[in-house]
Amino acid sequence: NPLIGVLALQGDVREHVGLLERAGARAVPVRRPAELAGVDGLVLPGGESTTMSRLLETFELLEPLRERIAAGMPAYGSCAGMILLARQVLDGRPDQRQLDGLDVVVRRNAFGRQVDSFEGDLDFQGLDGGPVHAVFIRAPWVEKAGDGVDILAQVPDTVEAGDAAARIVAIRQGPVLATAFHPELTGDERVHRLFVGMVRDG
Ligand code: GLN
Repeated sequence: NPLIGVLALQGDVREHVGLLERAGARAVPVRRPAELAGVDGLVLPGGESTTMSRLLETFELLEPLRERIAAGMPAYGSCAGMILLARQVLDGRPDQRQLDGLDVVVRRNAFGRQVDSFEGDLDFQGLDGGPVHAVFIRAPWVEKAGDGVDILAQVPDTVEAGDAAARIVAIRQGPVLATAFHPELTGDERVHRLFVGMVRDG
């Protein structure tokens, strides 16, 4: 079974490890360059992308991680992880760094200041078993996606969704997967199964 790391600088590390194991992988926290070098793929949890960017530099993980992603290592980012994997962030901090694994522009804290969190059922391309219940917490959305990016889920286009209607919230580009929401909070392991499959195929 593949060995998948969970970036352990911030966020729901234990929950991601648990879901990866349920999805058939071996999973380990990753905090050091040597640990990164030993994994077949990496999950980047949610948290705060500006803080995570700073911690990646402090832990001397930023450049090794950029290099592994450029070399094709499978990666899955949730929420802040999606922001880090994007090529560009809107409403970010000027010093926040990007891993450049996805040809997308994301907007940070996109769902609005008042509405910190938002939940909804999403149709998710390629996942069997019905809609995914998605929990968004100060989440980004994808504002612009390049031609090579597959759109896997969008917020339903309803009046209640307001500005969020039809926004892109799950994507894949080759070996890199990202969701604006947190599957580790609902315990739905299907997104992790998809990622474990990507790591196996890679
Ligand atoms: N708002 C956070 C950021 O900018 C992301 C929130 C999350 O990961 N739950 O990084």
